[in-house]
Amino acid sequence: MKIRFWGVRGSIPVPGTSTARWGGNSSCVEVVHDGSILVLDCGTGARPLGRDLFARPERELDLLFTHFHMDHIIGFPFFGPVYAPGYRMRVTVPAFSVEEARDRLARFLNGIYHPLRIRDVPCDLSFHPIQPGRPFTRGPFEIVGVRLNHPGGAVGYRITAGGRTVCYFTDSAPLARPGEGVAAGQEAPTAERHVVDAMRGVDLVIFDTMFTFDEYLEKMSWGHAYPEYAVALAKEAGVKHLVMFHHAPDASDEFLDQLESNWQDHADPPITLAKEGLAVDLEG
Ligand SMILES: [Zn+2]
Ligand SMILES: [Zn+2]
Repeated sequence: MKIRFWGVRGSIPVPGTSTARWGGNSSCVEVVHDGSILVLDCGTGARPLGRDLFARPERELDLLFTHFHMDHIIGFPFFGPVYAPGYRMRVTVPAFSVEEARDRLARFLNGIYHPLRIRDVPCDLSFHPIQPGRPFTRGPFEIVGVRLNHPGGAVGYRITAGGRTVCYFTDSAPLARPGEGVAAGQEAPTAERHVVDAMRGVDLVIFDTMFTFDEYLEKMSWGHAYPEYAVALAKEAGVKHLVMFHHAPDASDEFLDQLESNWQDHADPPITLAKEGLAVDLEG
């Protein structure tokens, strides 16, 4: 399984000189195994991914949405395969029905916010509702959704293929209050235990670290975590490698350089900061 980061930013894309090195595109991560392609979220990183996909022979992919905040969907009408007749795109959405799943994108692609309407999408588009906790498969990938802590709800995905497992857990506040749960050295409350159990022993976890701890205390209801929390959960779960993800719009290249150097010697687990263009090969 190979993972490539096309957009690592949260909330809003931030192009410019202060973000040129770490990247300004919003959330979009690609997972590939045996020629099968999974796309996780469709932030503005989906645009360069779409261009890259056209250089490859495959003409089908699976797209999984964690939730429908703008930073995770705004790249969809700029994602090249959408405009390729015959390109098979299966869209997986946390929802109770195909209609509800389709409606999530249709509300955005209705001719008002973008000229494209969902009914006019040229590719071979289909919608597949899933519910957290119920395993499903997409090609060679065995997947389960995990409920996260985010306003309006977000679902993370635990993905296994070829004997390797990656968790894409973005857009989540801590699942325990300050002073409680794993980060405080205490027993995890139920919601946090579900997330830790899903992370147990996996090869790679991609986790929301948008805030500093102090920012989290000011914005506890905004639905984002901080590095020390992600590290505490990853350590508790025996994760082999943690990637810090969904960087804040105000996190400059210098800020992220500093964050990287703060964590570069961490061994349990080793830590990498998500960077646009970063590729992780779990096959070795
Ligand atoms: Zn987000
Ligand atoms: Zn969000």
